[in-house]
Amino acid sequence: IKWTEGRGWHDAQLQPYAPLSIDPANMTLHYAQSIFEGLKAYRRADGTVATFRPAANAERFQRSARRLAMPELPVETFIAAIDALVTQDEAWVPSGGEESLYLRPFMFATEVGLGVRPANEYLFMVIASPAGAYFSGGLKPVSVWLSEEYVRAAPGGTGEAKCAGNYAASLVAQAQAAEHGCDQVVWLDAVERRWIEEMGGMNLYFVEGTGTDATIVTPELTGTLLPGITRDSLLRIAGDLGYKTAERRISKEEWQQGNADGTISEVFACGTAAVITPVGSVKSTRASWTVGDGGTGPITAQLRKALLDIQTGEAPDGHGWMHRLGR
Ligand code: PMP
Repeated sequence: IKWTEGRGWHDAQLQPYAPLSIDPANMTLHYAQSIFEGLKAYRRADGTVATFRPAANAERFQRSARRLAMPELPVETFIAAIDALVTQDEAWVPSGGEESLYLRPFMFATEVGLGVRPANEYLFMVIASPAGAYFSGGLKPVSVWLSEEYVRAAPGGTGEAKCAGNYAASLVAQAQAAEHGCDQVVWLDAVERRWIEEMGGMNLYFVEGTGTDATIVTPELTGTLLPGITRDSLLRIAGDLGYKTAERRISKEEWQQGNADGTISEVFACGTAAVITPVGSVKSTRASWTVGDGGTGPITAQLRKALLDIQTGEAPDGHGWMHRLGR
């Protein structure tokens, strides 16, 4: 779907996957007006296909667009585009448990020019690819690197938006994590380099206490972390399961101390791609520690199953989160 200044959205088309040709002065290549979303379509046991909270992705896409001075795509158009693609390619939605069709809506400037200003032409597209279960050999806890040298987002910056530049800026820290033998980066705030923000592509949760007395805590949305749809859903699912929940700041010292004295029993990350991933160990320039026993905690496993069961149609969808796609 194209957008042109003065004309708005026009020319929606469904086309076979093919390369685009790009002008060397395409404004996106130079000034990075590029935003995206990620969703999964699951085939349920009854054969129907559904996706999870697409309106929430569409609304976040609108907020990302506003932050990058790009036009807002109506929520209905965003969902209709996904639906058209899945209807066309329904056979590509795998059946079976955690397998899914990954959907990638995105938008970028198509205008040609070298002046630094918002472009006058954009293209919104959706591409899709079948995705296997994220953890084919069962849940594997990840090791994380607390990034003290690089930050992902500063106050007033683009941290809340799902824009390409945030990911470009994260790659060097991800490489540093790998050099230290870690799977993922955990970002700290830019001002004090102290408060836990989020992981490379997932939000974080801390389980304080154990059993039914546990409180499930996640860093509050300060404007510098991505408001994950999985994060938001888990606040409600944890409440449904009888846990107390809290959104507040957690410092790296509190995390280390909490693991040492047992007040933090489990830590996990959550996002569309991996749903929920346990965090097994933490490393920084100053310290390293194990989370719990380094394995998958019982509450992490319980929350993961509760969310996945809704997404794959194994459990009733009490919140009305699933949106049917295709025929
Ligand atoms: N943080 C970042 C930086 C991400 O890229 C993602 C993935 N979209 C998330 C958090 C998790 O968001 P969601 O639950 O909406 O997938």
